[in-house]
Amino acid sequence: MKPPNVTKNNAPGHPRPVVIAIDGTSGSGKSTLARRLAKQFGFNHVDTGAMYRTLTWQCLRHNADCNDPAAVIRTMREMKTEFPVFDGRIRMFVDEANPGEAIRGEAVNQSVSLIARIPEVRAWMVARQRELIRFGSLVMEGRDIGSVVFAETPFKFYLDAHLDARVERRSRDGYSDQLKQRDILDTTRRVSPLVVSSGAYVMDTSANTPDQTAALALEELKRRGL
Ligand code: C5P
Repeated sequence: MKPPNVTKNNAPGHPRPVVIAIDGTSGSGKSTLARRLAKQFGFNHVDTGAMYRTLTWQCLRHNADCNDPAAVIRTMREMKTEFPVFDGRIRMFVDEANPGEAIRGEAVNQSVSLIARIPEVRAWMVARQRELIRFGSLVMEGRDIGSVVFAETPFKFYLDAHLDARVERRSRDGYSDQLKQRDILDTTRRVSPLVVSSGAYVMDTSANTPDQTAALALEELKRRGL
């Protein structure tokens, strides 16, 4: 499938594509900030959490046990993926299907951090995520973007907020989620745990509006030369 609407933008003064990396805890405001920055700079947005969620969805619909690494790895190797771009957002389709909102459901929430700790899954995801630079400059959000996937980028953010604020945001968006449980699994896993990567600009978004967070991030990016 040929990707429509590809935005292949290099930032002024940057001859090669750049990456803005946004990592942080669940519900800390990564997606809202990523969408805003992507729009502002005309870069493509990649939600890597959606990629892990899509693999989880694929395992669930094929009855692969997410607690069984061999079953997950088999499902991952058998699936056919495409990365179409819609409205400046790069998505992951599997076996020609767009899982859509199903990846935000309870079943996926409960299993996604289980598959995300499997080393072979992480290696596969990191390789696919790095390849997305073929689309041009990116705003990529996740848990290991500034520490592993694009560790060399100078444009890195780490977002966090109090658990109460994060839970409230998720429920306002209409989702119930085991945020605390996922945070524990994400920060304690053996391979690429969620960490503040070296050089990341750390923001506590608990008391911020999305506008305030975006304004702070833009100021910092300017200071770093973007
Ligand atoms: O960002 P989101 O909450 O949708 O991510 C879902 C899960 O995917 C996370 O809790 C984490 O287990 C996993 N993930 C990851 N590395 C990333 C992005 C997401 O391990 N880069």
